[in-house]
Amino acid sequence: MFKTIGVIGAGQMGHGIAHASALAGANIRLIDVSPEALTDAVDRIRSFMGKQASRGVIKEAEIEPALARIKTGTDYALLSDCDMVIESATENEGIKRDILKRAIEHMPADALLSTNTSSISITRLAANTDRPDRFCGCHFMNPVPAMPLVELIRGLATTDETFEKFRAYAEGLGKTVAVSEDFPGFIVNRILLPMINEAIYTLYEGVGTVTAIDTAMKLGTRHPLGPLELADFIGLDTCLAILSVLHGDLADAKYRPCPLLVKYVEAGWLGVKTGRGFYDYAEETPRPTR
Ligand code: NAD
Repeated sequence: MFKTIGVIGAGQMGHGIAHASALAGANIRLIDVSPEALTDAVDRIRSFMGKQASRGVIKEAEIEPALARIKTGTDYALLSDCDMVIESATENEGIKRDILKRAIEHMPADALLSTNTSSISITRLAANTDRPDRFCGCHFMNPVPAMPLVELIRGLATTDETFEKFRAYAEGLGKTVAVSEDFPGFIVNRILLPMINEAIYTLYEGVGTVTAIDTAMKLGTRHPLGPLELADFIGLDTCLAILSVLHGDLADAKYRPCPLLVKYVEAGWLGVKTGRGFYDYAEETPRPTR
C-alpha cells in the first residue's frame, strides 16, 4: 500500500479512489481545477461512507479518521510528499498530458505515476513524462468503493517492480486485478462501449424505446443495469470520449460513435452527473427523456 497518494481530478472516479484509498489507510492529496468539485467530493465521500457504515460494510468509527487523511486543494504543491500520484481527470488526452506534466514538477523524483484513463494509450501518456518505467495504468470501476475490479495496464516501459507495487495497492484495497495489454479501451471498455454504442444506435434507428432497450437487456440477458442507464451512470461525455479513442486509434468504422450520443453531449445532457441524459433524474424514479 502506498503511504501518501495524490489523486488529480475529484469527479465521480477521483473522489471514489480517494474514498477507497483513505479507508485503506493512505493519506490523500486530492486536487481539482474546480474548488466546487473538491467540496462536492468531500461531501459525497462523507455521505457514501455513512451509507457503508449503516450497511455494516465499514465501522462508524472509521469515518472521521479516514476523512482526516484527505487533504484537498487546487495547488499541485500538495503532491510534494506523495509516493504515488494517480490522474483521474476528464477523459481528454491533452488535459491528461498537461496534468501529468504539472504533477512531475511537484512530486518526488522516485514517486510512481498512474492514470485512471478508460481508453487512452498508457505507453503514449507515460512517454510524455520523465518516468515511463515508473508509470502504470490503474483503471478503477464506478463506483470505486463498491466495485471489486481494477484493470492494470502496463505501458511498454513499465518495470515489473512498478507493476507489482500497483498490484499490491489494488489488492490492498480489496480489489481483484485483471491484467490488460495496452490497447485502446483495454478489456472492459473494448467490450462494453461497443455494446453501449449499439444500444444508442438501436434507439436512434427506432428499433426500441429507452425503456424497451434497457428492459430487454436487463431481463433478457441478466444485466443489472440496462446499457442506456449504464451510459448515463458512466457519463455520456466519457462514453463519447472512449468511443472516439477506440474509433481513432483502432481505425475501424465499427467503433463510430452514434450521432445521437454526440447530440446528447452537445446538449450538455451528460447523464446522472448533470441530472439528465437518456433519463431525467429530477424525480426519485428516473424517466426516459424521449
Ligand atoms: P468527471 O467528469 O466526473 O470528473 C472529471 C473531473 O476532472 C472534474 O471534477 C473536473 O473538474 C476535473 N478536471 C478537469 N480538468 C482538470 C484539470 N486540468 N486538472 C484537474 N482536474 C481537472 O469524470 P469521471 O467519471 O470521474 O472520469 C475521470 C476519469 O476516470 C476519466 O479518465 C474516465 O475515463 C475515467 N473513468 C471513468 C469511469 C466512469 O464510469 N465514469 C470509470 C472508469 C474510469
